[in-house]
Amino acid sequence: MYELPQPDSASQNALLRAVADQMALKPRSSAFPPALEALYQNHLGAQDRMRIIIPALLSLAIIDAILLMGSMRAPAAKFTGTIWELAIFTVPILLVMAWLHRDRASPWRVPSTIGCVLLMTLAANLAVRRADVAGAESIAFSLSLVVVASNILLGLGFRAAVLTSALTCLVSVICLFSDPQLHWHQCFMPISLMAAAGTLTLIANQRMERGSRQIYLLLLREKLQSRSMRAQNDRLNEISYTDPLTGIANRRRFDEMLEVGWTAARHSQDSLALLMIDIDHFKRYNDTYGHPAGDQCLQRIARAIAGTVIGESDLAARLGGEEFGILLRNADQHSARAIASRVHQAIERLAIRHSASTTEPFISVSIGLAVAVPAEAGLPATLIDAADRALYDAKHAGRNRTASGPRRAA
Ligand code: GH3
Ligand code: MG
Ligand code: MG
Repeated sequence: MYELPQPDSASQNALLRAVADQMALKPRSSAFPPALEALYQNHLGAQDRMRIIIPALLSLAIIDAILLMGSMRAPAAKFTGTIWELAIFTVPILLVMAWLHRDRASPWRVPSTIGCVLLMTLAANLAVRRADVAGAESIAFSLSLVVVASNILLGLGFRAAVLTSALTCLVSVICLFSDPQLHWHQCFMPISLMAAAGTLTLIANQRMERGSRQIYLLLLREKLQSRSMRAQNDRLNEISYTDPLTGIANRRRFDEMLEVGWTAARHSQDSLALLMIDIDHFKRYNDTYGHPAGDQCLQRIARAIAGTVIGESDLAARLGGEEFGILLRNADQHSARAIASRVHQAIERLAIRHSASTTEPFISVSIGLAVAVPAEAGLPATLIDAADRALYDAKHAGRNRTASGPRRAA
């Protein structure tokens, strides 16, 4: 099926509604509303072209062979003329087929297919003129094949097929009835056969198109529904990993990433660093400025902390309350300390006034830092414990600083 463009959710819903509306209608072979019709035409264009090219080539070969057989009893010069004429008409048809095969979704697909059918009709009618009377009659009968092939095998929609059949019949009526060597009753049967074959194959064409449109609607509905479910799933996933107040990763995300990072580091024997960040005297901040101001402060601090994390596999998360964590993969003491001091600087730059703090007149944070190379039997919780203990040390050493536990195999 043709790959749908990525629509926004509003246009996706509108498309789904259009599909549902069309499915509620009686099956029709006429066009869908414009947006849906454009998608359907793209889908047709992108279908396996071999499904059309092979029967089209086969029809061309059969019709050419019948025209040649019908012309065989004509004088040699006329027969050679027919061969040349057929070549002149067949080559452009082959070129158009090759081009359509390459440019699968060309908007010229239908007009050029109709053009090819008319060329073939013209070639057959010219062959009628060059053949002797008996040959002309049998060739005239083969004109029905052109109509059958175009209505059934070339993938033309119903309207295009009606137009092609009408033009093919018209061209043939004009050519046959103006042929001086044929009496009108000799033209009558081939034309009647052509009209009958055209009518019956148009009925078949209409049924095929209805079926194809119904199947397309079903496929499209399925695709749109599963896409919207995937999008909903992604959104739910995102929500379940995001802290609603600050918009950064939440504790659940942090725990999962810690587990992943821990396992990877255990395999590669790389070190894993954890920074536990806690706002100093935040209770007093709330008491002084109110809870809503406290929330705003948490949001600004979260943004500042997240801004210090650059590595793709590193993560900044709100662990709960006024506590944040930064997880750094492949980080040693030195680089983890560098990130910690970037956090202090970022908070300092915010310069959020905190008149009730006994540490600084501005909001500050304390950071506990732990670095470990996971041992075979070690658990991620040991890294959290170590960072927690370091945070406790930082608080007791006067706050607004980073303390680190010893680097060790956890
Ligand atoms: P310390 O320097 O020792 O960390 O002192 P602290 O006051 O920051 O620590 P404590 O654990 O006593 O207080 C944490 C405060 O954080 C208490 C609580 O009101 C506040 N807090 C926790 N979650 C939120 C929140 O979502 N919004 C707001 N506004 N305040 C919060
Ligand atoms: Mg705390
Ligand atoms: Mg605190």
